[in-house]
This record gives sequence, C-alpha cells and structure tokens, in this order.
Amino acid sequence: MTKTTPIIQYTVSLKNPQSHLFEITLEVKNWQESILDLKFPVWTPGSYLIREYAKNLQDFRVQNEAYVFLKHSKISKNHWQIKTLNSEIIYIKYRIFANELTVRTNHLDRTHGYFNGAGMFFFIPGWEKQKIQVIIESPENWQVSTTLPRLLTDKNIFLAQDFDTLVDSPFEIGTHQIFDFEILGKKHQFAIWGKGNFKPEKIIEDTTKIIETQAKIFHGLPYKNYLFFLHTSNNSYGGLEHKNCCSLIYPRFHFQEREKYNRFMQLVAHEFFHLWNVKRIRPKALETFDYEQENYTTSLWFSEGTTSYYDNLIPLRSGIYDGNIFLNNLSQEITRFLNTPGRNIQPVSEASFDTWIKLYRRDSNSDNCQISYYLKGELVSLLLDLIIRKKYNNKRSLDQVLQELWLNFGKDEIGFTPVQLKEIIEKVAEQDLTEFFNLYIDGTEELPFNYYFEPFGLELKPIEEDLSYPYLGIRVNSENGKEMIKFVDHNSPAGKIGIDPENELLAIDNIRVTADQLNNRLKDYHSGDTIAITVFNQDELRTYSVVLADPQPNRYQVVVMKNRSHFQKKLLSDWLHNQ
Ligand SMILES: [Zn+2]
Repeated sequence: MTKTTPIIQYTVSLKNPQSHLFEITLEVKNWQESILDLKFPVWTPGSYLIREYAKNLQDFRVQNEAYVFLKHSKISKNHWQIKTLNSEIIYIKYRIFANELTVRTNHLDRTHGYFNGAGMFFFIPGWEKQKIQVIIESPENWQVSTTLPRLLTDKNIFLAQDFDTLVDSPFEIGTHQIFDFEILGKKHQFAIWGKGNFKPEKIIEDTTKIIETQAKIFHGLPYKNYLFFLHTSNNSYGGLEHKNCCSLIYPRFHFQEREKYNRFMQLVAHEFFHLWNVKRIRPKALETFDYEQENYTTSLWFSEGTTSYYDNLIPLRSGIYDGNIFLNNLSQEITRFLNTPGRNIQPVSEASFDTWIKLYRRDSNSDNCQISYYLKGELVSLLLDLIIRKKYNNKRSLDQVLQELWLNFGKDEIGFTPVQLKEIIEKVAEQDLTEFFNLYIDGTEELPFNYYFEPFGLELKPIEEDLSYPYLGIRVNSENGKEMIKFVDHNSPAGKIGIDPENELLAIDNIRVTADQLNNRLKDYHSGDTIAITVFNQDELRTYSVVLADPQPNRYQVVVMKNRSHFQKKLLSDWLHNQ
C-alpha cells in the first residue's frame, strides 16, 4: 500500500492588526488516518531557551470540508490531537497573540506584522520534510518580505521546502522601506521598519564591505539571495541569524554617533557570519532540530564566541574602523570578563550546555556562578587565533579553521562533534591543544592574556585610577531616585558580610552616598579600614560593619608596548591589517 502524502497549506490573515492577533488557517488535504497530531515548537534555533510559544495560541478549532466541527484534545502543552472522521480536508483555525517586539518573537500592530515560524506554525510529526505553502492575507498596500520563494510573482503565496525552512524564514509584512543592492552577482536587500536617524546608503555601503570581507574568508557566498530585516525601536538591541537572512533590532537614534554606529556594524557582521558558523557549520546536537525540547551542545563557545571574535575583526578588515578601535573593543570585552567572578566557577563548555537554564535566565547571582559563552568564547578564540598566527607569522589563522570546518562539515551540513572541532583546530595549528582545551574550555584556569599578547608587542594593563580606592565589592545603579545594589561579589568584603543585591544603598559612615559618588567616597579610606554601610533590606534598615580589602582593578586596556622588536611590530601589523 502506498502512503499518500498530505498537502499542507497555511493562510495567515492580518485583517485586524490592531488586535495583535494573527488569524491562521492550516489546511491539511489527503490525510489518510483517523487521528491527526499537531505539535507546536517550544523554542527557535539561534535562541536557546524554552520559550513556550504555544502560550500565545488561542481559539483553536477544527472543521472539515463539510463544515463539521471535529473533536480534538490536548495531549501536552504543545500537542493537539484531532479525530479526523476520515475527512478529505481538515481546516485548523487558531489565533496567535503577537505583541512582543524582539527578533525571536512575533509583533503585529497597525504599522506592520513580523513573525517567526516557530511562534506561528504547527508541525505534523513524521511529515516535517513535506513542502508547506504559505498564503499571506494583508491590508491593501502592505508588502511582504521573506526569503521563501513566491509561487506566483504577483501573489502572496510562498513555498517552504520543509518545516525547518519555514521556521528559518521570518516574514515582514507592512509598508516598510526596501533597499536592493547587488554583491558578487547576488541580490541583497534591507527591509527596514521603524523610524530613526539611520542613512540607508551608508548602512548599505558598509554592509557591502562586510559581506565582501566574509566572502573572502569562505571563498564565496553560499546562497542565492540574502535579506536583512531591520527593526528600530526606542532601546532594544538584538539579532537572530538565519540561513538566507537575519533579523536585527537596534535603538532608533543610535546610528549617528560613531561608537554606536560601529556597534551596529558589528551586529550586522555577527549575524551575517552566522550564515556559515551555526547555520551551516553546526554542532552535531543542532544537525537536526528537535523543536520540542532542549538541544544540548558544549560547542556554543565556538558557534557564538568565535562569531563574536569575528564581529570585532571583520569591520576592522573592512576598513570600517581602525586597529585602535579594535583593541579598545577587545579591552572592553576583557574588562567585562575579568569583572565576572563566575569565570572561576563555570567552564565555557558547561556554559554552552546549560544555556537553556542559565544564560537566558539571568539573576543577581549569575555573575558569581556563570560565564557567558559569547564572552569567554570570544576571548578563547582570540587566544587560539594568536597561537596560530604566531606560529605561522600570520600566514595561517583562525580563518583556516573556519575554512576547514566549512569544507568538512558546513557545505554538506554535517554536524561536528566537540572532538572533531578540536581536531580541526589542531590540524590547522599543527599542535596538540589538549592542555589548552582542558584548562580554558573545559576548565576555569585564568586566561593568560599577556603570555599570548607578548609576541605581538601587546600588553593587558589595569587602569591605574581604579587602584586608588579600597575594594568593597558591589555594583550600584541609580533607579528612580534610589541607589540599588545590582551585584555583590560573593568573595568581596560586602559579599562576605551579607549585603545582598537589590538592597537599597543609603549611606557610608552615616552620610548619604549615590552610585556616582561611591568610588570617590571610598578614596577617603584604606584597605583594612572598617566602614559602616547602611542599606534598606526589604524596607528594613540595616547597618553593616565592613572591613575594606586591597584595591582591585575593574577596568583594563590592551596597550602597545613601548620598545617593540621588529618581529613584534610585524606580527601585530600583519594581524591588524590582514586582508
Ligand atoms: Zn550570535
């Protein structure tokens, strides 16, 4: 008996955008069984948190071709089961509430609709590889941007080759601005929703440089066309990568000031780099996505961290900023790293594995017990790059590691294991890196920056000014007129005595102190002095006697050494001007 394949079609209606409700009809034809199971994704690739997208689903109902309502029941939070009565066509209707403006959620209002497939569509277990048609019904004059091909040029009917492709192809529907440009014979597009102080020509000019730089690393562009979605809002920042597009959200007035604009170009470089690293060069655990549960991998330090290292390097190579800015960015990252005590507790491979319960679920203790695999992954990638560059006088670098991964795994989308990743890095470096991996990736040994900087004539130095006051161990923010303690270092004088995050800081030695004044006030004391810290803890006034510790640096700068050898000069110059 041959099994007839079902025909799957979605219609997404944006008839009442002000309601924030997408109205969806799933039409299943040729279904041969008496039961139809539908499952809703609980997360979306690229954002490793169980988001429970089904929480936004309402008004679920089912009819057949004769308008008979079909019985259905819920089996679990994301699993619906329908008794089909052997109907020829099954129509499943539901609504999705969409009022969360981020790159990984859905948003619908009077101005536009934006959605990610994982938050909109069911998959039919066993038929995930089946083609899926998507029809968009939108208000008049609204246009549709997506990387899915149109079935008819003048109609909003699109075709996804399978469920993965549908999830990987977000939609922007509205009156957004569209800008076309061509690079290396391939079509590129920016679809921009939202007001702001950006200049599209400038963004496209710099994005072109970024794309050309990355195409050089990977020897070409592995797509037919590519689409950048850009949303601007008051203060959101984020990106989500896809195979043939990416979604970016950025503060609307952060496009003019140089430093903020550079940060935006880093975001562009980061998400674009992902089209290789993580979308095609994937850890084994992400070779096939399981949309129903956590997909555990220890390799996100490479997928995200190496991508973060390159998002600083690529604008430099593209001529968007110079070596000083590159080193300043690096200094800021190292500063963040060395101010995170959790780096001594959690190995970066474990940070990757536990992303599902930790990175996206931060609390006031996070910095004490965890380290971001973006941040440490970036710095470990820096050290690996320096190891390879030093050994081969910049003739080899992490670029070759990426090329090898692309040829061996990415091109054919075969997942790599942690062992295979290590082997490829070792092959390019032509050395055993077991100790490096044990200490810095699977262990929490302090990263010896200066050891690896020295051949390049660089040095990591603490900023002297920070050493002018004794160490207390708290970070304070002014919030609505209150001085709130946001972080307490467990091993600091404040942490040891029991001062807690979310306490309101009131006074040092009975005189009011604000976040801005704190470090200056501490300059009047020495390590070993006892001070009285007064706080509100749950509205209860408490005073603690704290013995201050030795000064600790909290900012660092990567500086160029004064008397450099010819070799040091050449190594640094070839690294920072490497094309
Ligand atoms: Zn990323």
